[in-house]
Amino acid sequence: MRSYRLIAPAKINLYLEIIGSRADGYHELAMILQSIDLSDEIDIHAASTENIRVYCDHPQVPTDQTNLVYKAAALMAQEFPRAYSNFGGVDITIKKHIPVAAGLAGGSTNAAAVLVGIDLLWNLGLTQSELEEFGASLGSDVPFCIGGGTAIATGRGEQLSPLQSLDNLHLVLGKYRSLEVSTPWAYKTYRQQFGINYIQDSEGLAARTSAFHSEGMVKAILNQDTGKIVQELHNDLEKVVLPAYPQVLQLRELFASQTGVLGTMMSGSGPSVFAIVESLTQAEIVKQRIREAISDDDLELFVTHTIKHGIKIV
Ligand code: ATP
Repeated sequence: MRSYRLIAPAKINLYLEIIGSRADGYHELAMILQSIDLSDEIDIHAASTENIRVYCDHPQVPTDQTNLVYKAAALMAQEFPRAYSNFGGVDITIKKHIPVAAGLAGGSTNAAAVLVGIDLLWNLGLTQSELEEFGASLGSDVPFCIGGGTAIATGRGEQLSPLQSLDNLHLVLGKYRSLEVSTPWAYKTYRQQFGINYIQDSEGLAARTSAFHSEGMVKAILNQDTGKIVQELHNDLEKVVLPAYPQVLQLRELFASQTGVLGTMMSGSGPSVFAIVESLTQAEIVKQRIREAISDDDLELFVTHTIKHGIKIV
């Protein structure tokens, strides 16, 4: 029986700006997304039945039709009915290492892996941009997760312009295990508090998006200038998440006060916070100091780094 094992990396947001509202109800965004070396493993097997079955032993991850990997497989079955009837169903096993509901695109990267895996399993020969198009209908972060690396993401996050990869930027990442921030809540609250400042007209939105392509963070990445990158870190959602979640604010402030930390920011809608550090040795020291300062077992800390790739076949 045929099977594939795929590595599905998490992402962080080096930049997240909310520009305005879209007619479809989503927000218009300008983001820089970055893959990191913190990954789930997805095993995908051709099944003897025509069912799609999902296995995962993480208590916060559903295994029914609400799991994004189920939705990804169902989408492929619907789009390629002949391949589905030829090859049958799929069994998908998720080994979770990425914290759940963390602003790290855990579900999205799992779905991206399933799109890539089914393309292989059913010999579909799809291009990356075709896979990205299917991904966009599952979730805004899914297209980025397929190719990964470093990219500008605009629109609702699905329009990608790859950037020169930021390889091996050292990171420490913290997430309270039991703390979840709902992404819809974060965007809704931001709209209530700051919607007055949104750009309303489509020409204004397009002008802001195109200007973003030549601004500070993009330039800093093109120049591989870590000093500038840390100055340009930005996340509008911090304005609503940090006041509502004092633990996240405390973690961010603690990261900022550590020797060797060049910059710190919340990722996506949180509650993960990352710190960019000078070296692997500094990363281990910072992790240790945070562990000593916050003696709460609920806080998970990871030493990791940026990577150049998205979904990888093992
Ligand atoms: P994003 O950064 O894209 O907003 P996130 O990292 O904040 O995503 P996820 O880890 O994707 O959040 O989890 C969000 C919700 O999705 C959780 O409540 C979880 O139960 C559900 N979920 C569905 N499928 C998955 C999956 N394959 N992995 C993790 N969570 C999943």
